[in-house]
Amino acid sequence: MIPQNPVIVIGGNAAGAAAAAKAARTNPAARVILFEKSPFISTGTCELPYLFSGEIDDYRKLVFFSDESFRNQKRVEVYSSTEVVAIDTRKSAITAKSSVTGSSQVFPFSKLIVATGSKARVLAGYNTQLKNLFTLKSVPDYLRWQEYNSLSNPKTIAVIGAGFVGLELVTALTKAGKEVLLFEFENRPIPAFETELSSFASELLKQNSIAFYPGSNNIQFVISDGRITKIRSGSRLIEVDVVFMALGFEPETTLLTSAGIKTGITGAVPVSTKLLTALPNIFAAGDAIECTDYITKNKVYYPSAVTAQITGHIAGENAAGGNVFFQPVIKNIALPFFNKFFLQIGCTALELKDYAFRTGTVQDISLNRVKVMPGASSIFSKVHFDLHTGHILGASFFGDADAGSYADIISLAIKHKIPVQALSDVSYNYTPELSPFIHPLSKIGKLSSNLNNGVNNGRKT
Ligand SMILES: Cc1cc2nc3c(=O)[nH]c(=O)nc-3n(C[C@H](O)[C@H](O)[C@H](O)COP(=O)(O)OP(=O)(O)OC[C@H]3O[C@@H](n4cnc5c(N)ncnc54)[C@H](O)[C@@H]3O)c2cc1C
Repeated sequence: MIPQNPVIVIGGNAAGAAAAAKAARTNPAARVILFEKSPFISTGTCELPYLFSGEIDDYRKLVFFSDESFRNQKRVEVYSSTEVVAIDTRKSAITAKSSVTGSSQVFPFSKLIVATGSKARVLAGYNTQLKNLFTLKSVPDYLRWQEYNSLSNPKTIAVIGAGFVGLELVTALTKAGKEVLLFEFENRPIPAFETELSSFASELLKQNSIAFYPGSNNIQFVISDGRITKIRSGSRLIEVDVVFMALGFEPETTLLTSAGIKTGITGAVPVSTKLLTALPNIFAAGDAIECTDYITKNKVYYPSAVTAQITGHIAGENAAGGNVFFQPVIKNIALPFFNKFFLQIGCTALELKDYAFRTGTVQDISLNRVKVMPGASSIFSKVHFDLHTGHILGASFFGDADAGSYADIISLAIKHKIPVQALSDVSYNYTPELSPFIHPLSKIGKLSSNLNNGVNNGRKT
């Protein structure tokens, strides 16, 4: 029997590594090949800020596999430092180019999984060719920063963008002893989060003496000798040693669009529930694809490590002959900032403004454990729900690490359509070191019952 062409995976980070390993597990007879353009596969992207702060002392700790260990443990052939430069859909083949040897080679495939992820956005007209302009997206980004930092020891650093990565950078660079200035186009930090969380973020910026410039929607750089020396924002001209762009991510879709795929409304690649693209035998996974939001049913772009890993597994299994499906996603974002945490689950009030039915909102500030106990601190909770069904539509929390577990309970309740009032009817554990006598979510359940006239536990009374 003529052996089938291999399953080929393009992109070797969260989604691609998961897809390749799952394909090899699903069909032990299949030959699986993974291509990655950088020198590193399977890296800890979410842990990168802790390299910048110095809390993780060696980048090699964030490279979880070498080409050899991945091949030996996962039974996948790996070509790192090898960029896939073209997909030939007619011949079902890809062309890969090694950045080490400079040579190109054509590989036929039976199934292809595109997991090319995302790239950091930069301000139009500027790119990281400028010597002191950086992004935070990958291990190579860190290595470039590390070399510059050790040679030039910059003191004043501007971070452009006060979203997720911007705030993580502020914490990391402050911990590393730098003076950080934060610029944001909108008039509040973390503009994609609930407005109260933005207020808490503003407060933390003040407490940590971070100069914050909201409404900076017309930033320009003064450049001298390939280096940014000043930032012009409105009438201000501010001297800086280094600039980090933290404007979020955009899907890396070049290969697929060159092969004839049209991107969706979000700019990412539309896929079926089996993660097939519009091209036969070509799957896509991770930050490159668009998802369906569980609550609004809208197409959304939701780049996250968890979604990358889940979609990688699904694409890998299906490419190897499986039959599994990708479900709509529930947004559940955790953002550490200095020693506190922001949690945003489902929709914000702003995202619910077009929701077709009447909504209710409850909010509360309670303690995360008994008042007299060490470590007791306030936790802010806010929950939106459908007034008729009691279904939770969104929630936000701000506080210590406990907030993470509250967010996960809400995510479970959303998924299984457990009405908000039922939160008061849960057997929460209690010991003073762990929790307050009345769990904050139980209070949210009670408050929502009071608000929700005529509806009890989701059933009309
Ligand atoms: C600083 C930071 C912190 C984060 N923190 C969190 C967090 O706490 N929680 C969370 O859920 N998510 C977090 N994320 C998001 C998460 O890291 C991403 O969603 C995840 O890495 C996406 O994985 P991916 O494999 O789809 O894409 P990517 O990580 O972008 O990987 C794509 C890979 O494909 C390679 N590639 C691209 N084109 C080609 C080509 N033509 N040929 C060969 N290789 C190619 C790239 O080099 C890259 O290695 C964070 C991201 C960043 C940057």
